[in-house]
Amino acid sequence: MKYNHALFLNPYIESNNTSVMKLFPPTGLEYVAASAEGLVDKLTLLDLRYEKELSDTAKLLDFISREVDIVCVSIGWDRQFKEICGLLNRIPNNIPLVVGGYKATEMADELFKICPSINIIVRGEGEETIKEILKDLPLKDILGISYRENGAVIHNKNRPLLDVDDIPAPDRALRNNKYRLALNGVSVTNLTFDSVLSARGCPYNCKFCTFSLNPLGQRRTYSVRGVDSVIREIEGIAAQVILFSDDNLFADAGRAEKICDEIIKRGIKKRFIAQARIEIYKYPRLLQKMVKAGFKGLLIGIESPHDRILAQLNKGFDSATIRAAFKVLTKYPIYYNGYFIYGNIGESKEEMLYISQFAKEIGLDSIACNKLRIERFSPLRELAEKTPGSHFNEDGGFYSDMYDHAALKKIGRTIKFSFYTPSRFLKILWKGIFEIRFLTFGEIISLFAVMPHLLASVIVRDIKKGRLLDSLKRVFVINK
Ligand code: SF4
Repeated sequence: MKYNHALFLNPYIESNNTSVMKLFPPTGLEYVAASAEGLVDKLTLLDLRYEKELSDTAKLLDFISREVDIVCVSIGWDRQFKEICGLLNRIPNNIPLVVGGYKATEMADELFKICPSINIIVRGEGEETIKEILKDLPLKDILGISYRENGAVIHNKNRPLLDVDDIPAPDRALRNNKYRLALNGVSVTNLTFDSVLSARGCPYNCKFCTFSLNPLGQRRTYSVRGVDSVIREIEGIAAQVILFSDDNLFADAGRAEKICDEIIKRGIKKRFIAQARIEIYKYPRLLQKMVKAGFKGLLIGIESPHDRILAQLNKGFDSATIRAAFKVLTKYPIYYNGYFIYGNIGESKEEMLYISQFAKEIGLDSIACNKLRIERFSPLRELAEKTPGSHFNEDGGFYSDMYDHAALKKIGRTIKFSFYTPSRFLKILWKGIFEIRFLTFGEIISLFAVMPHLLASVIVRDIKKGRLLDSLKRVFVINK
């Protein structure tokens, strides 16, 4: 073996103690790490969001210098990009550094410029590529990588995508931590979380979305794993809550129904959360089976209440269909979170602010609103370029002459605070406990036991940040 000890590193550090971003494992990195098994003597998987000691850069670098032969880092997001590059540049030059992930693929050329320490960038899906790197095949023969040679950067051809059933599932024994929900540093219950990827790609073509696109032009067509392999993986999971991290678990309603059937038949007792599109409302039998199988929450991309924007985004439905869908969906004891995009091309402030009202009208339990992003390979790029007064940064941030970043941030806060009133939090609690029965009796008791502690931590946090008065005003004045 060329390498004795390989480190697979999720480099994100979450200083925020209330972080949904810490709830689930780094699935992409875990898949690649699982493929590396057997090709090195020792394999270490580190998720810096949970590493107390090794999230200290000096200690991490010391560990790498003493023990590791090759470092593989996943960069999936824009967040913390500068900090991660800073870390990569401090990794000793004698240790090969391999970087992969969505952002690394999109920014391959820039990363080689910013980080002289990077030897190889794995573009797109990395499960097969990492095997060839660890086997020390000549770099020129490894498909799907970019690497340095004599001062130049060489981009090898794309690697054909693997059949999803040939990709080994993550090895959960490699983890050093369990994934739990903490609010303000207070552990809310003993519930643990995990995720399962049952399919890759998405059959839809929403224009703002580059999820199923490999940035170097290789589109992952919708490909599903066999139902048996998905169920076997679920049966091996210890966590009580499982997120299906597929872009849309229900893209094939018949297959989703088979998954529910197997969960029910085998008596699997888990709580499931999945991403979905509103079209699921057309399948009442599936919805009934989902409830029986333990589906507790759906994360649904709605994006906008306005037909003009929905058409611009090529979402494939209009606002009347959204209303009709939620008339059906809200009959089932499932928690619904709606994703929205604001700051769209040509969108007015009034249109953006209507999101909160619309979400209440259709019966959503919670919302998550994000500013429009125009990634480098986004199909919306052309329209944005043609629209006078529209601008976007290289990092994907979109703004206009009417609404700059600061104005959009303010609008985003207004949408959020007009939706999340104190009564909304009570409704969420009520629904979680009594309607969808997300928590068991014991978990409810432990939740109420930590409430005073949780409230105290919120007050201490607001005092420290000097925003206690603002929070009180929000609760007692604005949200009246
Ligand atoms: S937004 Fe969702 S449905 Fe649309 S293309 Fe992306 S993953 Fe598919």
